[in-house]
Amino acid sequence: MKYADIIIDISHERLDKTFEYIVPDELENQVAEGVQVVIPFGQGNRAITGYVVGLHDKPEFDVTRLKPIARVMRDSIAIESQLISLAAFLKRNYGSTMNQALKTVIPIKKKENEKLKKEISLNISLEQAKIELTELLTKKNHAVGKERLLKELLDVDVLDWELATKKLQVPSGNIRDLEKRGIIRVESVRTFRNPHMNKDAVRKNIVLNDEQEAAAERIKADIDTGRRKTYLIHGVTGSGKTEVYMDVMEHVINMGQQVIVLIPEIALTYQTVMRFYSRFGDKVSILNSRMSPGERFDQFERAKSGDISIMVGPRSALFTPFANLGLIIIDEEHEPSYKSEVIPRYHARETAVYRAQLSGATVILGSATPSLEAYSRAQSGEYELITLNSRAMGQDMATVEIVDLRQELKQGNRSMLSHRLLELMADRLSKKQQIMLFLNRRGLMGFVSCRACGKVLKCPHCDVVLHLHKDGTMKCHYCGFTTRAVKTCPSCGSKYIGSFKAGTQRLEEMVKEAFPSARVLRMDADTTKGKDGHEEILSAFAAHEADVLIGTQMIVKGHDFANVTLVGIVAADISLNESDYHSGERTFQLLTQAVGRAGRGSEPGIAVIQTYQPENYAVVTSAAQDYSGFYQQEIAYRGLLGYPPCSHILGIQVSSENERDAVAQADILAGLIRKVDPQVIIMGPQDAYIGKLKDVFRRVIYVKDQDYDRLVKIKDSIDSFLLEQKQYRNTTTWFDFDPINTL
Ligand code: ADP
Ligand code: ZN
Ligand code: ZN
Repeated sequence: MKYADIIIDISHERLDKTFEYIVPDELENQVAEGVQVVIPFGQGNRAITGYVVGLHDKPEFDVTRLKPIARVMRDSIAIESQLISLAAFLKRNYGSTMNQALKTVIPIKKKENEKLKKEISLNISLEQAKIELTELLTKKNHAVGKERLLKELLDVDVLDWELATKKLQVPSGNIRDLEKRGIIRVESVRTFRNPHMNKDAVRKNIVLNDEQEAAAERIKADIDTGRRKTYLIHGVTGSGKTEVYMDVMEHVINMGQQVIVLIPEIALTYQTVMRFYSRFGDKVSILNSRMSPGERFDQFERAKSGDISIMVGPRSALFTPFANLGLIIIDEEHEPSYKSEVIPRYHARETAVYRAQLSGATVILGSATPSLEAYSRAQSGEYELITLNSRAMGQDMATVEIVDLRQELKQGNRSMLSHRLLELMADRLSKKQQIMLFLNRRGLMGFVSCRACGKVLKCPHCDVVLHLHKDGTMKCHYCGFTTRAVKTCPSCGSKYIGSFKAGTQRLEEMVKEAFPSARVLRMDADTTKGKDGHEEILSAFAAHEADVLIGTQMIVKGHDFANVTLVGIVAADISLNESDYHSGERTFQLLTQAVGRAGRGSEPGIAVIQTYQPENYAVVTSAAQDYSGFYQQEIAYRGLLGYPPCSHILGIQVSSENERDAVAQADILAGLIRKVDPQVIIMGPQDAYIGKLKDVFRRVIYVKDQDYDRLVKIKDSIDSFLLEQKQYRNTTTWFDFDPINTL
């Protein structure tokens, strides 16, 4: 006999509320998670419908008081059923409770106190507005904010206040000014609306090139003949993947189906969003992580009601409740942000493929540097590989030069900029072309250490270094612990204690020294603190308000600056030294993407890679733009060491405020795994990468096997053990399958 947990009200706050029912034998093979059923409910045994969210062999409540399920709604294809099946998939494959999984796929209901939105529109005719703009442009030192706003309002009818101030960077003073002069109107509205495109707005009229056309036709032909597959579009940087996506999207929309487009959060820029709006207008909606839960709920409601048919957003947009989903696109498929870092720690790629199966949809993955996971599946035929070998308008790929920093040092150059890079920079500046300098560096910057004894100051609550801030304090970036900066070393008393400047900051100083008249913008964790910091910097650079853009990896992702003809990778090595098995892949991706920023316009581009390891395979293959060469070496290495995708890893983290309990519990679980499955490889238990966080001690165990399902079984055994266990209730255990970051 089986027992089912059933929910009768699908709203985020009622998901905890399940009722237990008996599954009659004759229904057993029809009842599964997500299935809609009719049950007798309450005193009068009123027949109502509910959804099965869990199944088990042992009843939780007194069996004599349980009622049986009356019948199964056979042909219910309700979107709710799909979402519950999806939650069950997350729970099973990534580890979480059903409740956590349901809350991941079903959004929070709208809060009552709705915020009003402000919208800007023209208060004068388009003709008058054009005259205003011309007049403005004749003025010296005119307000650039006003220029941007007017230009935008010539294209769109209504502009969101947030969009204008944050993304277009129009100062609110500029808006008020134009409002006072009666040129524009600012109105408060209750709900979120998309910017409406003017009917006569000029859309860039793009005709697909032969390669793009062939790619799109191949997918559309499969769709038309009822074949649903997963495609990997491997297209070089600038090959015009987005245009291929949009062509297939249009086809699917015309069939009356809906589309989900996932983009990495950092690429969700005004530029990208506008490309979708201008093609599909009102059918599009955007999700982003800055939206309040209420706003996200609203967007999902619009999707359910058929108001919109395209949702563009990060990972969580995958759960948009479209009833007739036809296509899921994952752009920049290799991005680590597609893996969730909260429980359930799902990967959007696998989850998308599963959702597509449930709804009979097609999946398109796209990247210039596919993940090893996706590419190996394309090699084995599980995905279909489509290659775009050339740039959209036939531009040449950038020429790449490698500079050996060891030689540079021998010649006495201790600067971060090699002779060759300086020479090219001078040339570009004289031609009024733009330059991007990329420093592949993250993590330990601005931390405080003693130059006499080497002591590094750490947070008393976490196993991480403290960072020095301008206000004279030292802060922990994990728990927020703040203390006054010390003048002398607490360990040896030396007064030579201080912080090292971030690499990007030093680089900025050097560039300004070498080229005093160059206008330099810097983009790193420091300069992008505000919500839209990175967007502001990028749009200023796009508007050629600076000649040089210096930054960490956030500057290389997907941006399209036509005037950039030189990219300098100042130090290509740092990510090679990371202890993580992904470091070769990350380096290859970052270098390829960085090189891909150069020469996207009419002028050819050069990229300079400065490195201490010119012979390293990731450096050599990215310089040659040779993905396949990189893949062959990397996959051999993964196979040799048993790393994904050649094998799978289950990470288990055990934490507790009591260090000894965390250690003891991790040992118990490791023992359990050895008993349940003596064949798998177990590593640890050992301290987590950050062994203590916010006064909580963390231990990890890694389990390795080629068979994913075997790891799922281990997770299930641990789950049922924890359910029964009486001891060590003060510990917490969670799972991470094929972790992206070291636990
Ligand atoms: P990717 O995502 O592959 O790097 P994009 O889709 O962003 O490339 O395209 C790069 C640039 O080329 C964009 O400015 C786009 O408008 C332009 N583009 C793409 N396809 C064509 C085409 N067939 N004709 C003209 N321009 C194109
Ligand atoms: Zn010291
Ligand atoms: Zn801390």
